[in-house]
Amino acid sequence: MIFEDLLSNLSTNPYFGAGFGLFGIGAGAAILRKGLQGSLILFRRHLMITLEVPCRDKSYQWLLKWISIKGARKTQHLSVETSFTQNDNGQIKTSYAFIPSVGKHVFQYKGNWIQIERTREQQTLDLHMGIPWESVTLTAFGNNKHIYYDILEEARQLALQSTEGKTIMYTAIGAEWRPFGHPRRRRPISSVILDEGISERIIVDCNDFIHNSIWYTQRGIPYRRGYLLYGPPGCGKSSFITALAGELEYSVCLLNLSDKGLTDDRLNHLLNVAPEQTIILLEDIDAAFASRESTSHQKSAYEGMNRITFSGLLNCLDGVASTEARIVFMTTNYLDRLDPALIRPGRIDVKEYVGHCTDHQLKEMFKKFFENSDDVEVSKFVKGVKSLHRSVSPAQIQGFFMKHKSSTPLTVINSCNDIFDNGLN
Ligand code: ADP
Repeated sequence: MIFEDLLSNLSTNPYFGAGFGLFGIGAGAAILRKGLQGSLILFRRHLMITLEVPCRDKSYQWLLKWISIKGARKTQHLSVETSFTQNDNGQIKTSYAFIPSVGKHVFQYKGNWIQIERTREQQTLDLHMGIPWESVTLTAFGNNKHIYYDILEEARQLALQSTEGKTIMYTAIGAEWRPFGHPRRRRPISSVILDEGISERIIVDCNDFIHNSIWYTQRGIPYRRGYLLYGPPGCGKSSFITALAGELEYSVCLLNLSDKGLTDDRLNHLLNVAPEQTIILLEDIDAAFASRESTSHQKSAYEGMNRITFSGLLNCLDGVASTEARIVFMTTNYLDRLDPALIRPGRIDVKEYVGHCTDHQLKEMFKKFFENSDDVEVSKFVKGVKSLHRSVSPAQIQGFFMKHKSSTPLTVINSCNDIFDNGLN
């Protein structure tokens, strides 16, 4: 009885009625908001497709470039990336690439609307690169993943085009390989003149190796090959390796084993994360390690200077495992200073001596520089150099020719005595 009275009093009370109404509206709005959030999540989960590309991924830079050139080129919110490019006559040009700034951008690709969100986290640093952690997220309607494959492939092709005909040199920074300097125009292999057959033998061997992965996997042999070029300085070891990389359409990862900051672990990591299609080049390997037969005093001095150990290097070379062809080149001026363990088969599979000019090299270099010279002039030049009774390196011949680039072949032949006066010896 009392309860019924209370209820009828409350229902006729205008204050209570209004509060109840407000409560109803609030609850309704909350349910609606939850419902909307839920359906948005469901919508995103089932009817939208997203792709996140973090800045550590290889395709990140390609994608940013692609977005600014092909994708969101109409966006008005940009950030700048300054780069230097080398044109065909060797001139360096500064260019500014505008890339989408941090934030959201929308563009159309093959009839689909795609939203790009570039985010940067100020609190999180990429430890290897020392820059804030970034990522790009693409969001599109539907569930067709191919749209993203297509975009990534287009971005890759675009990046390839910009380095076409060029050789990229990488150097190790921290635990990463970073392009060093400008991509260089490929040096034609024919411009490095080695003694007869050497160049051809190495090219055939490399091609054979690159195209025979199955042979290696079937036999359980690690898919890597080691080459050693040895001989005096200025005879074309480094030039040949760079030209060979161009010929194979490979890049070069240059590693200095005397680098104080290089530890066994870092070396191992670097060898295993080298970019695809690269030759790993360890130059002047003798400078990093003395032969184990050298005096223990010398040996400890060498080891004291470096943080990489000889056994560490051997382990790293043996442990280089890769699904794709891994080519390691080493150079030295002094073969006899190398420890036999370093150059045994399996670590070094091909050894070639790259030495002072032979008659063949003198001939070919002369013909290359003085294209209109005849056979008589060529042999006179060879005779002239031979009459000096001294070994001469191709670098010295190159320097001598440079000095005479506007002279006639006859003047050059008559000036052979000057070869050693060019400051290179
Ligand atoms: P290395 O690595 O044997 O010390 P480099 O490759 O550094 O020799 O050569 C030094 C310079 O001499 C380069 O400018 C290169 O063009 C020239 N050079 C050396 N050897 C040759 C060669 N065999 N053919 C053409 N140029 C050569």
